[in-house]
Amino acid sequence: MTLVALIDLSDEEKLDLLRRLDQFRQWHFLDEKRYCLVCGEMITGRQIQVIGDTRGNAQLRLNCPTEYCKATPIEWVCPTEDVLIKIAMMEAERRWLCLVRLAGRAMQPYQRTTSKPIGRTRPKPTLGPE
Ligand SMILES: [Zn+2]
Repeated sequence: MTLVALIDLSDEEKLDLLRRLDQFRQWHFLDEKRYCLVCGEMITGRQIQVIGDTRGNAQLRLNCPTEYCKATPIEWVCPTEDVLIKIAMMEAERRWLCLVRLAGRAMQPYQRTTSKPIGRTRPKPTLGPE
């Protein structure tokens, strides 16, 4: 078992470490954003945790700030337009699936009488903020 601890660093040191340990992308400043492919969160360089062996600085690692996320720098992509579009589409899809499920439930009693799918059903106000 290795002893690991979060290491507190000054802004400059942190940025320097990000540059050294993340060999995949350039870090221009500490508040630069990255999109974590593992947990799907937007993170900044400032939030990224630096973990190291308490006995020395030999084994410094970068860790995603999200709890239980074990992502490494290779999984942090720059939030370019492509990535942002993908995120937006995933969000839209998730919301769409949710709506389809709700609509499916709401439409079940009517399915025998109508063959046409109902395009827009007004959500009942009693559904709550789901
Ligand atoms: Zn993550």
